[in-house]
Amino acid sequence: MAGKPKVAFYWCAGCGGCEEAIVDLAEDLLQVANEVDIVFWPVAMDFKKEDVETFKDGEIAVSFINGAIRTEEHNEMSFLLRKKSRLVVAFGSCAHLGGIPGLANLSDREELFLRLYGRQEGIENPDNVVPKTRVERREGIITLPGVNEEVRALNQIIDVDYYIPGCAPPPNLVKDAIKTILSGELPPEGSILAPDKTLCDECPRRESKPEKIFLKEIKRISLVDVPQDRCFLAEGVFCMGPVTRKGCGERCLGANMPCRGCFGPSSYVTDQGSKFLSAVSSILETDDEEEAARLSSTVLDPAGLFYMFSLPSSLGAVFKDRKNPNILKGSF
Ligand code: SF4
Ligand code: SF4
Repeated sequence: MAGKPKVAFYWCAGCGGCEEAIVDLAEDLLQVANEVDIVFWPVAMDFKKEDVETFKDGEIAVSFINGAIRTEEHNEMSFLLRKKSRLVVAFGSCAHLGGIPGLANLSDREELFLRLYGRQEGIENPDNVVPKTRVERREGIITLPGVNEEVRALNQIIDVDYYIPGCAPPPNLVKDAIKTILSGELPPEGSILAPDKTLCDECPRRESKPEKIFLKEIKRISLVDVPQDRCFLAEGVFCMGPVTRKGCGERCLGANMPCRGCFGPSSYVTDQGSKFLSAVSSILETDDEEEAARLSSTVLDPAGLFYMFSLPSSLGAVFKDRKNPNILKGSF
């Protein structure tokens, strides 16, 4: 094993799809496993935090961290892996931009806890008991990591060298990214390891997208039948393709679903949600304010739709936790 680059994988707040994406490398995973020494991958092998602590600073060649930063455990493990690794890669939408868990930032932590543990149908919890970080029992003390005030993307608590986008990143992108990183021929620091074009640029439906779109109506994908070769936007169904980075293999479009933006913005777009919102505002075919308001009100969950994957990284994100020394970069 001596001489092989040491590689770590870690899972923060996410659904597990990014771990599946690694397993989806199939026989390529065996090749990767042959070329590297996997020193930490808790979801697949019995490694502990103490194993990581025994490494010298920078001894791990690269750590792939997926999931958003939600708990104190995520803070602690991210700081530790950053210290022990020469490179850190934010793997998948949640680590890259905050992802779907980041939508929790629409509520504050107390509201979330009440919603989850106290105000759900079928939950009987009149005293609003919520999980505690420390409980003493006869058998011993049980501890749980505390929950941060907000959800963050990985680069909002540690320095990140590279990003592999996607929910989840597709196997070909993961394979190419791992090969590139292990080859030693590194792209510029901070690179997003996917093409810098938008999904629209090479969408198989783009022939049916007119130069200028005008919408009289906004349609929900669950209520309409869009032909397989038609551009969703031209049909009145919101598709984030114009503001989303290419590289997923047009997965949703292939399943006749519009893009929801999981690859994040291309470098030409600063804020994915507001850019899409401004594009949409300009294609609504009305000069009448009331009609514009009526059309807008048919979008049931605008924040959830336009910022499905990028709320914590959006320009409007304001973190209360900024003043908390435990969550500022490298200060854990
Ligand atoms: S808006 Fe969506 S469906 Fe239309 S061309 Fe762009 S990616 Fe394709
Ligand atoms: S089509 Fe959009 S939401 Fe779907 S996988 Fe591709 S980038 Fe992600």
